Amino acid sequence: MGLTLPEGRQVQSTLLGKDGQRLDLRYVKKSSDLHLELGYKMERHLNDGDFVLFSRQPSLHKMSIMGHRIKIMPYSTFRLNLSVTSPYNADFDGDEMNMHFPKSFETRAEVLELVMVPKCIVSPQSNRPVMGIVQDTLLGCLKITKRDTLIDKDVFMNILMWWEDFDGKIPAPAILKPRPIWTGKQVSNLIIPKKINLIREEVGPDAARKFLGHTQWLVNYWLLQTAFSIGIGDTIADAATMEKINQIISKAKNDVKELIKQAHDKQLEAEAGRTMMESFENKVNQVLNKARDDAGSSAQNSLSESNNLKAMVTAGSKGQFH
Ligand SMILES: [Mg+2]
Repeated sequence: MGLTLPEGRQVQSTLLGKDGQRLDLRYVKKSSDLHLELGYKMERHLNDGDFVLFSRQPSLHKMSIMGHRIKIMPYSTFRLNLSVTSPYNADFDGDEMNMHFPKSFETRAEVLELVMVPKCIVSPQSNRPVMGIVQDTLLGCLKITKRDTLIDKDVFMNILMWWEDFDGKIPAPAILKPRPIWTGKQVSNLIIPKKINLIREEVGPDAARKFLGHTQWLVNYWLLQTAFSIGIGDTIADAATMEKINQIISKAKNDVKELIKQAHDKQLEAEAGRTMMESFENKVNQVLNKARDDAGSSAQNSLSESNNLKAMVTAGSKGQFH
């Protein structure tokens, strides 16, 4: 279903007569040409702010169909906030989704009260949020809240411009001299609703929606200024780590050679419930798995906090430690 509309859309309503005859109101010259009768139906195009049902197959849970407030945009693709991507299990590699427009007041009320996105943040299936910060914003959140992240006045002022609830009050800079500098955490401090405290005090679905939105706007703007990239330099281990990994691998090779020798000489003790061959294979696997884990963790430990690959894995935005 496309949302593309003809150029210069203004009044694009259709009048549907009792006999099913369609009248495009764009081409009605004089209103006196039209005789409105009882039983006629008026059809209109979607407008900004309309509520729709949006769904993606396979509909595996309740949150596969949710209510959205729409904005009409050019081109024939649906666009949606990244945070709502997780409950739909949607990505942008050719996914198709369906949109349904509720026409009756009853259905619209149901959409509004029961299935709008903010009301679906907490899943009734497992009492946990199914939406959150993802991708670049998640990485940005990790980086902006680091203790050594400092923001200069010009960038901080621009960040404030993205905050829809900005009341004109600028927080005092964390560092005053030689020039005013704010910390990254002060940005997070702005968008956390004032009523929230460590004891837990709820402020409801709409505040949650706003919080996710504000986080995206502010953190993404900051990330745009500071930039983030990953390169070959992030994947090269230092000499000491390389040496350690080589040692682990050669020790594993020797251990396996020893196991082979023992197996040939029939010196290997069969494990309980296993034949000799099965025991041999099991022992070799143990040695190799341990070598893989040890090499992996020493590589992991050698990566500094400034490593961009580690930053992504730690933030949870992409990749896993293995
Ligand atoms: Mg896909």
